Amino acid sequence: MITLLLLLISWAVLAYHGFSLLAITRVTLLVLVVGTLLGEVSPACWLVFAVLATLLNLPPLRAASLSRPLFSAYRKLMPEMSSTERDAIEAGTTWWEAELFRGKPDWQTLHHYPRPQLSEAEQAFMDGPVEEVCRMTNDWEVTHERADLSPEVWDYLKKHGFFAMIIEKQYGGLAFSAYAQSRVLQKLCSTSSVLASTVGVPNSLGPGELLQAYGTREQKEHYLPRLARGEEIPCFALTGPEAGSDAGAIPDVGIVCMGDWQGEQVLGMRLTWDKRYITLAPVATVLGLAFKLQDPEGWLGDETDLGITCALIPVATPGVKIGRRHFPLNVPFQNGPTQGRDLFVPIDFIIGGRQMAGQGWRMLMECLSVGRGITLPSTGTAGTRVSALASGAYSRIRRQFRLPIGRMEGIEAPLARLGGNAYLSDAASMLTMTGIDLGEKPSVVSAIVKYHLTDRSQRSIIDAMDIHGGKGICMGPNNYLARGYQGAPIAITVEGANILTRSMIIYGQGAIRCHPYVLAEMLSVQEPDAGKALAQFDRAVFGHIGFAIGNLVRSLWFGFTGARFSQTPVRDETAPYYRQMNRLSANLSLLSDVAMASLGGELKRRERLSARLGDVLSQLYLVSATLKRFNDEGRPAEIVPLVHWACQDGLYRAQIALVELLDNFPAPMLGKVLKVLLMPWGTPFKRPSDKLDHRVARALQTPGPARECIGAGLYLAAEEGNPLGMLEQAFVDVLAAEPVFDKITQTLGRRSFTQLDRLAAEALNAGIIDPEEAVLLERAEVGRLRTIKVDDFDPRELVANKALFNDAMLNRNT
Ligand SMILES: Cc1cc2nc3c(=O)[nH]c(=O)nc-3n(C[C@H](O)[C@H](O)[C@H](O)COP(=O)(O)OP(=O)(O)OC[C@H]3O[C@@H](n4cnc5c(N)ncnc54)[C@H](O)[C@@H]3O)c2cc1C
Repeated sequence: MITLLLLLISWAVLAYHGFSLLAITRVTLLVLVVGTLLGEVSPACWLVFAVLATLLNLPPLRAASLSRPLFSAYRKLMPEMSSTERDAIEAGTTWWEAELFRGKPDWQTLHHYPRPQLSEAEQAFMDGPVEEVCRMTNDWEVTHERADLSPEVWDYLKKHGFFAMIIEKQYGGLAFSAYAQSRVLQKLCSTSSVLASTVGVPNSLGPGELLQAYGTREQKEHYLPRLARGEEIPCFALTGPEAGSDAGAIPDVGIVCMGDWQGEQVLGMRLTWDKRYITLAPVATVLGLAFKLQDPEGWLGDETDLGITCALIPVATPGVKIGRRHFPLNVPFQNGPTQGRDLFVPIDFIIGGRQMAGQGWRMLMECLSVGRGITLPSTGTAGTRVSALASGAYSRIRRQFRLPIGRMEGIEAPLARLGGNAYLSDAASMLTMTGIDLGEKPSVVSAIVKYHLTDRSQRSIIDAMDIHGGKGICMGPNNYLARGYQGAPIAITVEGANILTRSMIIYGQGAIRCHPYVLAEMLSVQEPDAGKALAQFDRAVFGHIGFAIGNLVRSLWFGFTGARFSQTPVRDETAPYYRQMNRLSANLSLLSDVAMASLGGELKRRERLSARLGDVLSQLYLVSATLKRFNDEGRPAEIVPLVHWACQDGLYRAQIALVELLDNFPAPMLGKVLKVLLMPWGTPFKRPSDKLDHRVARALQTPGPARECIGAGLYLAAEEGNPLGMLEQAFVDVLAAEPVFDKITQTLGRRSFTQLDRLAAEALNAGIIDPEEAVLLERAEVGRLRTIKVDDFDPRELVANKALFNDAMLNRNT
């Protein structure tokens, strides 16, 4: 009995810590020796041990006897991987999310990633050109009056290199870090989302990035300096009417052939395309085009269907149809369709030249993992931060029932969501930029932040609209929310529509890339050399079994103990979050293996299951980013409510995903058993409490560190044309006036917090306040009225077609 107990305990401890099979064998040997000395181990036990130890620890023997039948079963189970799937899966790198996926995150690794910082040049750019272009931009004029940025703003953007943030210095670009790009985009977005999209797109996936990564020397020398100087405006056209999310299915073609180019016969391609939704297309001078290249006459080699290829087509080429505009949700950044039919261009127009023919999909997948992590997560984060900051200020200024509406418990709930999400989104964006600046191309992380930060942004703007009531609804130059509300679905849809990203990409790519053994198992099936394939599979599958057992043991122990004794890098009130993430990380890893083992390739089609596994991974990433940010910024006490809110909300959401996964498990009994094993004492996490909501809501309505960190780097100048800055000023003025108001009401009796200018005059006359205090009240009244006021219009102004208006007036009058 003692020996058996010793064996079980030592196996559990070794599995918990992830020791190798050899180490387990050695410890087993030791325990058996002890057992023999105690007289508990028979020769038969030694025989079984000897056979198993030899079989398991000698790879060739193990492969021949155990792995071979497993391998042939596995082959039958696994679906073939297409080359586009393989390119997508292999694109980019894995990073911190892989730690989270593997069941045993090393928190020191997280805390040791550098804190993102702007260089001197980047800070100067933020304080100079970015500030200036925000000042020059009036969002109402852009979205309502011009349906475009003003010519002055366009010129300013080109002249100051806004379109060249990713272009290397040798070509005249700014070569900014990902973090700097993110901060620039966030600031621009706090003024105008049209401004942010216009700058974001050329710096994201498109000609600039593709040229730098794959362009020939001639292409780089020709285009990059011109792009850096703003002499060329690029766009990138992949999507068309028949191929949106399924971009690999584009019907656009290029046929390799000889043709006439500027009076000479050259080898080239005859292109036919029909694209839509292309950002900057209406004003572009150079069109990045994705199409499928065919070589029926064998000009480039033996292959007929070369596959997706990317080329740069000058828009001035005769036959390029471009210039018409779509109208995306009243957020009229330049976006439109383009077509071409049988248009001949030289083969050298392929990005990277003819040797990159057919490599377009791989190129796009590799570059997507960076751009997708920067642009939309940054603008999404800015949207959430603006919503939080504005709602905090507005709910403090706006009074109903003689109270600031932010004092009402009903309003505290959305305010708390706004505060927590703003802190978390910025933290996730910062951590992702850190990864990109460390040289990662984090394909899974970029999908996580693309989905979650745009999703939280959309929900945040809805919360902000609800808090603002009619003030949010009536549009005009003083409305700082409505365009964000209208435009939120754009960020949800582009660069991988969110449902698809959640259902297929995060976990689909995450499981294969982050798992230490699954990709190796899958690739072993494709290895043509049978011996090598079996050896590769054997290594992977036995590693996999040990890994799964380790996660099972860890999950059981964490479930039983509530993870109380697991490792944490800190000893303060955030320690429980690290411990619970250890638990969830082990759970995710275990359930992932169970789901893969029970469903095999079918898991890919069971999107709702894989989406929930992806949700757990995502929440772990978002919560760990929150804790990392808190640590980086010196663990300030004033921010603690935001950190608690973000962590508790994230863990709770992860729990919902886990419970829903187990409730809908393909084998229902297994789901029930796993639920009992992983959560033996019931579900451990709760939503943030009303008390915590109250603390976050108060922090959002009080000048201080919480508001400062949410507003840092947004454009908050108090000037005409920037309603957000004016609101911020009114907030400060109203708070400054409140003690004066209280002083007056102590003498003059209860008053409502309105007509403060009149009250100031009355109190000044009565000698209750001094002139300086009267000025504070007057200023507060101006700001207060401006804040609660909404715009109204002459009816003529709102009618786009003035002729129709005139007809209607005529009919009414006759
Ligand atoms: C304003 C705007 C700007 C854009 N800019 C560009 C650009 O510059 N260049 C460019 O090439 N493209 C651009 N796009 C295209 C954009 O990337 C696509 O719109 C996007 O990929 C989705 O395609 P779709 O709109 O045709 O939706 P669909 O593919 O028709 O998808 C419809 C819905 O089905 C869901 N769905 C699809 N497949 C799955 C699946 N397997 N599982 C679960 N759900 C699924 C999607 O998530 C979505 O919710 C832009 C689009 C817009 C609207």
